[in-house]
Amino acid sequence: MTETATAPTLCSQNDGKQAVNTGETVPLCADCYYRTELARSLAFNREAALYNLASQDLDRMSVIGGSPLLKIPDLPDAYVFNNIKIDHSTVGVVNTANVHTIDVAISHLNQAGKTEASDLFRELTENVVNDQDIDRKNIDEYLDIVAYLSDQAAAAAKDRKKGLIKAAIDELINRAWPNAIKAAVENVTPMLNHIMFG
Ligand SMILES: [Zn+2]
Repeated sequence: MTETATAPTLCSQNDGKQAVNTGETVPLCADCYYRTELARSLAFNREAALYNLASQDLDRMSVIGGSPLLKIPDLPDAYVFNNIKIDHSTVGVVNTANVHTIDVAISHLNQAGKTEASDLFRELTENVVNDQDIDRKNIDEYLDIVAYLSDQAAAAAKDRKKGLIKAAIDELINRAWPNAIKAAVENVTPMLNHIMFG
């Protein structure tokens, strides 16, 4: 595989971000690299737990005992995107691809100085994904809509699809969501309309 000398290497996960792990076979941005490392840590911890179990089994059968055990490192408390905080217990439960889309949109909105919009999408996301009482199916369907709206909010006004945005907002407001989602949406509906339609 050849590369031009000047163009930055992009993340292989099609998120348009620049790769940070130059020199490795699969180019990844900081977010994707972090997730990969987290997955490796989880795999290591599983292996270490099995090794420790085997050591303890051997000790039980031997008169010597004292087999060394591997120290299993703690995982980070939160899954940190650039802008959105997800509790550790939520990782693997929600559709992180949607959270990633929202996170990228928030970065774009911040860069454009549209902080009321970026605050709104962060709030809409964090208040729902970190609520352990909402079932996964509802969270995923909700995030589908929020991700779409955040992407449209980050787009130039002339590129926005107004009819689809209106339909998405209607869906967000009117669907028979669990109460926790309804409350999260009700709080921000006027601001959401203001951001999308001015
Ligand atoms: Zn990436």
